[in-house]
Amino acid sequence: MDDAFTMPKGDLMRGKRGLVMGVANHNSIAWGIASQLAAQGAEMAFTYQGESLERRVRPLAESIGVTTMIPADVTDDASMDLAFETIEKAFGTLDFVVHSIAFADKDQLRGSFVENTTREGFLQAMNISAFSFVDVAKRASRLMPNGGSLISMTYLGSERVIPNYNMMGVAKAALEAATRYIARDLGPSGIRVNAISAGAMRTLSLAGISGGRGMIAQGRAFSAMKEDTSMEGVAGCALWLLSDLGRSTTGEVVHVDAGFHMMGMPGDEGA
Ligand code: NAD
Repeated sequence: MDDAFTMPKGDLMRGKRGLVMGVANHNSIAWGIASQLAAQGAEMAFTYQGESLERRVRPLAESIGVTTMIPADVTDDASMDLAFETIEKAFGTLDFVVHSIAFADKDQLRGSFVENTTREGFLQAMNISAFSFVDVAKRASRLMPNGGSLISMTYLGSERVIPNYNMMGVAKAALEAATRYIARDLGPSGIRVNAISAGAMRTLSLAGISGGRGMIAQGRAFSAMKEDTSMEGVAGCALWLLSDLGRSTTGEVVHVDAGFHMMGMPGDEGA
């Protein structure tokens, strides 16, 4: 993303405090979302995966006024304990959380799903990409006495077979189901829980998938709108779900993919 402030400015998030998890660099979806939320007045803390990412994440965070930055590995309970203690000290309460985290080993993201999926690879992908959202929801909801809104990021490979997406498709299916169960549990506390199913976008995570660039090209070619998924569109959806505009929407998976998900067949151009 070139400019953090090409997104609409306003006050939709003014007075709200939230946690954004998963900024790795300026291409990260979490960064696009955080930029939009900042342009609407949100106050945020960032968690990032580890010290090695700090050099890239700190200047981004500082450019939108984020000063609370905490290293957190979602597979490490001690690091998650410390992260949420730090957030509680800094903010007291939370209004929203952006979970934009996933990982599967490269070997789990190519070729034959049935041949290449290992027990270790399966469990690691489920742990980082699906269980972590359950854990985050539990921790964050304790800091949301006035209600709140949580989102996670998913992809169509949860619903349909996308070649090479393999283990991540299974993990995303678990993430989407978890979204509905968490939404049910936290609904009476006024906490909404949703997922954004974004089209393929050029990020670090996509580079880990065999033929990832082809996913972008095919997403564009087979989409209703014949265009790439935009960061502005994904960030705009996040703004809707995380602000009071999203009131009454929970347990939902919203597709932001230029209409790729609903096509049953490529167009008849050239047929
Ligand atoms: P990204 O690589 O910028 O972000 C992934 C983030 O996950 C990174 O910040 C990484 O540090 C973090 N992460 C991985 N393992 C972690 C761990 N153990 N502890 C803490 N953090 C960890 O890529 P992205 O594309 O912005 O991915 C963000 C989310 O969007 C992911 O859930 C991804 O599956 C989803 N998504 C991506 C696309 C796409 O095409 N890029 C499409 C739909 C959904």
